[in-house]
Amino acid sequence: MFDKLLGDLDAQHLTRHLTEVSTGVAPTVTIDGREILLLASNDYLGLAGHPDIVHAATEATRRYGVGSGASRLVSGTLSPHKDMERALARFKRTASALAFGSGYLANLGAIPALIGRGGLILADRLCHASLIDACRLSGADFRIYRHNDLDHLKALLSRRKAARRTMVVTDGVFSMDGDLAPLAELFGLTRQYDAELYVDDAHGTGVMGQTGRGTLEHFHLEETVPFHMGTLSKAVGCAGGYIAGTETLITFLLNTSRSFMYTTAPPPGIAAAVVAALDIMQREPERRQRLWANRERLCDGLNRLGFTIGASASPIIPIIIGRADRALTFAEQLFSKGVFAPAIRPPTVPESTSRIRVTVTSAHTAEQIDHAVTAFRLAGESIRLI
Ligand SMILES: *Cc1c(COP(=O)(O)O)cnc(C)c1O
Repeated sequence: MFDKLLGDLDAQHLTRHLTEVSTGVAPTVTIDGREILLLASNDYLGLAGHPDIVHAATEATRRYGVGSGASRLVSGTLSPHKDMERALARFKRTASALAFGSGYLANLGAIPALIGRGGLILADRLCHASLIDACRLSGADFRIYRHNDLDHLKALLSRRKAARRTMVVTDGVFSMDGDLAPLAELFGLTRQYDAELYVDDAHGTGVMGQTGRGTLEHFHLEETVPFHMGTLSKAVGCAGGYIAGTETLITFLLNTSRSFMYTTAPPPGIAAAVVAALDIMQREPERRQRLWANRERLCDGLNRLGFTIGASASPIIPIIIGRADRALTFAEQLFSKGVFAPAIRPPTVPESTSRIRVTVTSAHTAEQIDHAVTAFRLAGESIRLI
């Protein structure tokens, strides 16, 4: 049976496989014995391999062991977990914060805790899969509005039954297009219609805003939106997810989020690494400056060659190709020229919008970016895209 299902996927060019990275830390790694330039990592600030962060993880692992041994609510809350949550709350300027095993788990726990049967969720069509799963799991009625379409959202809000508990769910930075949600307008609408706004800032944390506190900082909305969700697995360079907010909200979530309650606490080494990473992130704003300079250099190069990069306003740069098989060929061409930027296909992205998804980080050098632009030119010419 599985043979047949896989065969069907294959016929549509939608089978996936795992690419093994054998050595190295982004952006230069070894794949299939070749040194490759990675344009696919979300380690935006180059922190995953930072010696001080690795050291913090190692020290905490020595002191507390590798595994936490139990759920956070039993005996699994170790000092590094509390240190991590205090550091997160300081960074996000909230009273409190709660860490989850991953960003996926943060959404899966928080959304069903915040809204359930009888409620209504309105979510952007391009929301991350973890948000979609969380919305389904919540048991609330769940409708999709067209991507960043405020008129559509407004129509759905004004059509609902009066006084119905409603939550609007969006990414801050969309993970496959790199564009931003119009958060000020979304917040205005939710206020007007007495709904709540849930912003997943997985790709905004550490990247967006004057001091890297995220997309809410970028739009000057930190004070207005009552809680913030993000991940520790991308710009923070570690692993985990978080919700930051008021003392009451956090106490409520730790009593009701099933993906927090019924799973073993994250490894203490990871928690200690997060503390070190948040510290470096805030002490070294030049990392973010380099990230944005690199983004400009790469976008300039791609624009000059005539690639369409859509509405990207972040270090996520999509090169929309269309058909899945053409996107795969493009990615293979890039790989043969020493650049790894994978083809992203349905169901991760809508039909006919298969693409190469490029992410740039602060760790790339100008020479590496220029090399990437050359590889894109050759690959683009080979499939007659440019
Ligand atoms: C990556 C991502 C997540 C999941 O975060 P992990 O920590 O990798 O589990 C959630 N939401 C969005 C928008 C993401 O891009």
